[in-house]
Amino acid sequence: MSEIEFDPAALFQDVAGRATSFRRAIGGSPQRPLANYREMTAIFEGPTPEQGAEAEQVIDELARKAEPGLHATTGPRFFGWVIGASHPVGVAADWLTSAWGQNCGNHQAAPAAAAAEAAAAAWLLDILALPDDCSVGFVTGATVANFVCLGAARGEVLRRAGWDVEAAGLFGAPPIHVLIGDDAHTTVFSALQLLGLGHDRVIRVATDEAGRMKVEAFAEAMAGCDGPIIVLLQAGQINTGAFDPFPEIIRIAHARSAWVHIDGAFGLWARACPEVSALATGADLADSWATDGHKWLQTPYDCGYAIVRDSRAHRRAMTASASYLPEVAAGERDPSHFVPELSRRARGFATWAMIRHLGRSGIAAMVARHCALARHMAARLGGEPGIAVLNDVVLNQIIVRFGADETPERGDALTQAVIARVQSDAECFAGGARWRGRWVMRLSVISWPTGIDDADRTVDAIIAAWRACKGG
Ligand SMILES: *Cc1c(COP(=O)(O)O)cnc(C)c1O
Repeated sequence: MSEIEFDPAALFQDVAGRATSFRRAIGGSPQRPLANYREMTAIFEGPTPEQGAEAEQVIDELARKAEPGLHATTGPRFFGWVIGASHPVGVAADWLTSAWGQNCGNHQAAPAAAAAEAAAAAWLLDILALPDDCSVGFVTGATVANFVCLGAARGEVLRRAGWDVEAAGLFGAPPIHVLIGDDAHTTVFSALQLLGLGHDRVIRVATDEAGRMKVEAFAEAMAGCDGPIIVLLQAGQINTGAFDPFPEIIRIAHARSAWVHIDGAFGLWARACPEVSALATGADLADSWATDGHKWLQTPYDCGYAIVRDSRAHRRAMTASASYLPEVAAGERDPSHFVPELSRRARGFATWAMIRHLGRSGIAAMVARHCALARHMAARLGGEPGIAVLNDVVLNQIIVRFGADETPERGDALTQAVIARVQSDAECFAGGARWRGRWVMRLSVISWPTGIDDADRTVDAIIAAWRACKGG
């Protein structure tokens, strides 16, 4: 075949077949990778290819090589970290996104992509019950969403203090006070680091046993601040699933003209579900929000949303005027105005498809199911002697301690042993985390295919591992 002729039919059909087999087998496969990173590196590395290879052969080689190192993140018994399960509808939309190859930087280059993104943005605001005039940037995930939102925050609080940070930079700018809860997610600190606000140059506010900011401690910290202030709150603590007390804190913060940002990577989706939406009451009072599509909405990786109430502040922070970019007429929206990148993936297609597929009611039902399964699993685990569930399971996150009656050191050792055993048994996948200085097993119920049977199989496997470890 010549270089410029290529019929993709066989290749695309082959890949569809492989993807189908992979997904059909996932529930019955070991719920962990069979090869680790070191082994996978040995599989993939090799001399730089001097000669090309036939398309089908390349894809076959890639699939065979990758297979042992694939994690069952799309399976029904994956409870590690907080990772969504790439729903087939989102994956199919994402395949088309790749095949269409649209550059979603501006609406002239990619009218369909820009329009799907704008429509999906409006649906997102409606489903998350946020003000409908917020701007939405489609980014890689909550880490970048936090970065984008805090970029807007930084610009706006300094603009009010008479400083144009986008033009003049931070050198010589009035100092910004940044207040953050002691149990904030590490990626928020990365965002602060990238923005020149520093991950240590913050005022850390004490939190309660669930990781919620204490209102009195916050009020006290605010009393010591003057000038520009940014407050970072959280919807869904990574270990406990807890929410900061938004109405009280935001009222205090806004009385001092602070910008309030909420990291709601998964927790903001509580607002889409009547059973748990009360947890996030008052979150709509904030100035910006970061959340993910690839967690609770089950879009494929990667997809997150940076949502900002003041769309001008959002645009100012993200758009350097470049003469070759087409002008945007009033009421038109270019995807690149709200994100750091110009050329970018058209993430709006998969978001549009997932919301269209699940609908408001399907999203609410999925979130409710996951929260109910989390409570069920926590109740069963907590009923086993020696196992303690450490958090009040208000959402979908569970933290579990093994050897609860033992010394802290022995409990740490037992907890780590149970995690290792569960992972090697591979009936389900759960990881470890540190909470209040001690090891815990963390279970996140957030995969669309997880049902009651999977929840029970998982609890059975964890209890069996615990019984084996405590005897040993
Ligand atoms: C997952 C998560 C993040 C980071 O999101 P990414 O999508 O991985 O970039 C930030 N905050 C919280 C609370 C999270 O759960």
